[in-house]
Amino acid sequence: MNLESLGIKLPLFPVSSVGSFPKPLSIKKARAQFCSGEISENELFEVEKEATRKWIEFQNDIGIDVVVDGEMYRGDMVAYFAERLPGFEVGGFVRSYGNRYYRKPIVTGKVSWEKPLTVSWWEYAQSLTKKPVKGMLTGPYTIMDWSFNEYYNSRRDTALALAQVVRREVEALIAAGARIIQIDEPACSVRTDELSLVVEAMDAVTRDLSAYFLTHICYGDFEKIYPGMLDIPVDNFDLEMSNSDNSLLTCFKKQPFTKDLSAGVVDVHTHRIESHEEVVKRIREIAEFVPLKQLWIDPDCGLKTRSVKEAKQKLRTIVDTVKELRKEFH
Ligand SMILES: [Zn+2]
Repeated sequence: MNLESLGIKLPLFPVSSVGSFPKPLSIKKARAQFCSGEISENELFEVEKEATRKWIEFQNDIGIDVVVDGEMYRGDMVAYFAERLPGFEVGGFVRSYGNRYYRKPIVTGKVSWEKPLTVSWWEYAQSLTKKPVKGMLTGPYTIMDWSFNEYYNSRRDTALALAQVVRREVEALIAAGARIIQIDEPACSVRTDELSLVVEAMDAVTRDLSAYFLTHICYGDFEKIYPGMLDIPVDNFDLEMSNSDNSLLTCFKKQPFTKDLSAGVVDVHTHRIESHEEVVKRIREIAEFVPLKQLWIDPDCGLKTRSVKEAKQKLRTIVDTVKELRKEFH
């Protein structure tokens, strides 16, 4: 849906973030204390709230246009939802990538939505800034793909049941006032043969709802899902571009990119802080293929694996670069 019709006006090259920011030591310490019974859940919650407040303050200070809550309260992006939804049980540890392990959820019954999962965090974040705050959810296809299923007959049945659950959360966010909602589908670029299921499930989530929708997809086999992925019914694709040195542009060269694009212009997998010149170069290259009015700017992916200092430096580099470019393109 058109942003202006939702009452939101953004500058040229709106700057945002994919979702997660690094957790400060205070949270890591509070989590350990909570696990050993030294502090209550409420005390842990207060520490998470304080960390969220600081990240919102930082985004306000440097001039981010569309703010995120930073996900201080989340561990894994699928487990966070699965642990809170009826129909799931938490399984044993499995390896996701590198040396990261997570507890893979298991669907053991009918999945359903009982109460909002993210709305109070969205409301809290929005109360701390005048800028719009994105609602942030994990998409039904990715929740299905990253879980075991012992209940539904097929992957499609599982994804479509989860789509109804995610839709309820989207409706709750909209009722609370959210106008920009991101539904992450990082699994989409891995099982490329199931693109039509990603489209069908996202349609079940977003159809006829009044919000501007984005989806974040991490880098993968884009040559296989492009341009078909443009059928995913969202307004904006938030894509990891710089990690592959803008190689996605070869796809855009063959078939124009028709939606809004949140272009990742700093790599989240490296400690190195990109220079102003590098970021300018990446944005200029992308701007040759995507009309300026359709272009948002952000980091490649969530910044949670970087240190707090690195994440802040990368975000500052983006904002400073965009401020310069706006003068030129206006
Ligand atoms: Zn990503």
